[in-house]
Amino acid sequence: MKDNVLKKEFKEKDVQRLRNLVTKKYGDKVSTSVGFTRENTEIHKEGDIWELDGKIWTIKDGIKQNVTKLDKAREAVNFPLFCPSCKKKMKPHLDKKWFQLYQHCFDCQIDFETHLRTSGQWEAYQKKVNNQGLDGVMKEFEEWINEEIQNQDNQSFITEAGDVEKWVGSSKNLLLKQKEDTIKFLQSLKKD
Ligand SMILES: [Zn+2]
Repeated sequence: MKDNVLKKEFKEKDVQRLRNLVTKKYGDKVSTSVGFTRENTEIHKEGDIWELDGKIWTIKDGIKQNVTKLDKAREAVNFPLFCPSCKKKMKPHLDKKWFQLYQHCFDCQIDFETHLRTSGQWEAYQKKVNNQGLDGVMKEFEEWINEEIQNQDNQSFITEAGDVEKWVGSSKNLLLKQKEDTIKFLQSLKKD
């Protein structure tokens, strides 16, 4: 009985006072953290696609990643029905490879190379192709590795609570070293 009286007294006298104290003291902090959650946590689920900072993002296997690379890959496999040079119908099994390299069909490439041989420009052409090929490989490699390096900065894992940034410093340094070594190697293959 005495206990009950004490509890009642405590409730009446102090609970409201405590409540006021807590509200006053922690009120700002509580509303700030609510605001923070609302502004910065955009929760996405597996397979969602959204735009942020001019890039397209998705979540695959629980990891947030940039999908701009996928669009580039799609572009690369585009293959027209007719050769832009001789206007003949292209044969995918034969011409695709040549089209991706030279933007015309296999027959056109044969004609072109025959012309170069008979006009004495073959060697100069080979050198140019070799160097341009290396430039292309280098450009592609740089784009790829720059994106990988950037992904190291942007990589984050999605949790129930939203984004959790994860910084992987050692992987980034390894990629930077790999970039430098590979570019140096490709440069050394070029013909003067
Ligand atoms: Zn053609």
